[in-house]
Amino acid sequence: ASSAKFFVGGNWKCNGTKDSISKLLNDLNSAKLEPDVDVVVAPPFVYIDQVKGSITNRIEISAQNSWVGKGGAFTGEISVEQLKDLGVKWVILGHSERRHVIGEKDEFIGKKAAYALSEGLGVIACIGELLEDREAGKTFDVIFEQLKAYADVVPSWDNIVIAYEPVWAIGTGKVATPQQAQEVHVAIRDWLKKNVSPEVASKTRVIYGGSVNGGNSAELAKEEDIDGFLVGGASLKGPEFATIINSVT
Ligand code: PEP
Repeated sequence: ASSAKFFVGGNWKCNGTKDSISKLLNDLNSAKLEPDVDVVVAPPFVYIDQVKGSITNRIEISAQNSWVGKGGAFTGEISVEQLKDLGVKWVILGHSERRHVIGEKDEFIGKKAAYALSEGLGVIACIGELLEDREAGKTFDVIFEQLKAYADVVPSWDNIVIAYEPVWAIGTGKVATPQQAQEVHVAIRDWLKKNVSPEVASKTRVIYGGSVNGGNSAELAKEEDIDGFLVGGASLKGPEFATIINSVT
């Protein structure tokens, strides 16, 4: 990891019940966590209030999505204003499941990010290539295009954490090697340097996601440009999530 403060997010996706979440919260509240790490969990919308009411204030709350503008007649959507009302500080945008299962496009994701930032939320901005992109040698083209869609519209990079999540590694148990992740993280920083500013390139945290677990996080965290993790499956297990948080080097 670089000198930037380590950042670990837990994306619970569409998992959990009141009971299972209550148990997970007990585990998280009693876990010993390295102090110098930003820790965020992203529960399903319907459990955010429960989580906010019982989680240690050591851990901040993220949403897994937000509406692209002010609330109103948008059936089934949740607005940034409503998230702030519940004490949410972050939102995950551009997750591969929203891109590839739900069909969200770069431009729409960029607009969501711009709106959430303008309203004061932090954005965990996800990017990542499909296996077919990697095999066709297009990894960098794809992630640069996704980055550009954010860069074209965001008002500032101060509250953005970039999550590099190769789609072939998400929920598959097939983690990127530390070298594969480091190579892309360096490319992301170079892109930011050329297209945004050297300052943003050095300050912005670039975290890795895709089958991170308690057994592989320490090796990944040793890489200079890996500034933390976005964790799916393993974030549903309190002790393992704590191990990942504490793998900061
Ligand atoms: C994710 O959904 O952001 C993720 C990285 O999932 P998993 O850790 O389960 O691969």
